[in-house]
Amino acid sequence: MKVIDNLASIQDKITETCRKCGRDPKEITIIAVTKYVSVERAKEALEAGILHLGENRDDGLLHKYEELGDRPIWHFIGSLQTRKVKNIIDKVDYIHSLDRLSLAKEIQKRADKPIKCFLQVNVSGEESKHGLAPDELIPFVKELHEANYDKIIVQGLMTMAPFTKDEEVLRSCFKGLKKLQGHIQDLGFSNMPCSELSMGMSNDYPIAIEEGATMIRIGTALVGEES
Ligand SMILES: *Cc1c(COP(=O)(O)O)cnc(C)c1O
Repeated sequence: MKVIDNLASIQDKITETCRKCGRDPKEITIIAVTKYVSVERAKEALEAGILHLGENRDDGLLHKYEELGDRPIWHFIGSLQTRKVKNIIDKVDYIHSLDRLSLAKEIQKRADKPIKCFLQVNVSGEESKHGLAPDELIPFVKELHEANYDKIIVQGLMTMAPFTKDEEVLRSCFKGLKKLQGHIQDLGFSNMPCSELSMGMSNDYPIAIEEGATMIRIGTALVGEES
């Protein structure tokens, strides 16, 4: 399938879902997750009108960046080792996986400009998943606030739902993230607008949108899995 056709059906689904839940489709940003596919396929996505690309490994991002430069808006969506920060920091606009103070400290040290960060939360509590536990989030946010890092903007929260077709499980995960967002906004800390929710992937993005997603990260359904 061509990316442009996949994109059209995803946009239709977004429009339909937004109509159902009374949201404006303009509130939803699609990030094309290109981690499985070639540079050519990523280019095809840009030509289809995609503006945002997401990669989950530093080498994958660097490889594509060599070809595509800063034409796309780059999102780092995978778990990020502290020692890899320096490789990607001047190339990315967003980091979706801030989950510890050591990582925040390294971003602060290496970044030349403020980076929009998402705090990754393991809402579902699955052991295999990265991210802060829900009850660690507010203490973490307070520590971050006290550290006064001017290179870190807490743009929002990110989660990965369990891999399941069970709608109720997915929905409660997304609802959980939305609720945590409210708690952070209530703190009113500077540099922490926390206005975005990065949630929803190929198999669950309509539910994520119903529950408040503003950035959806789509790989398989948009660019496919093949290289
Ligand atoms: C791979 C990945 C995605 C995209 O997954 P699909 O199911 O292929 O849409 C989204 N977010 C993260 C963090 C990923 O690693």
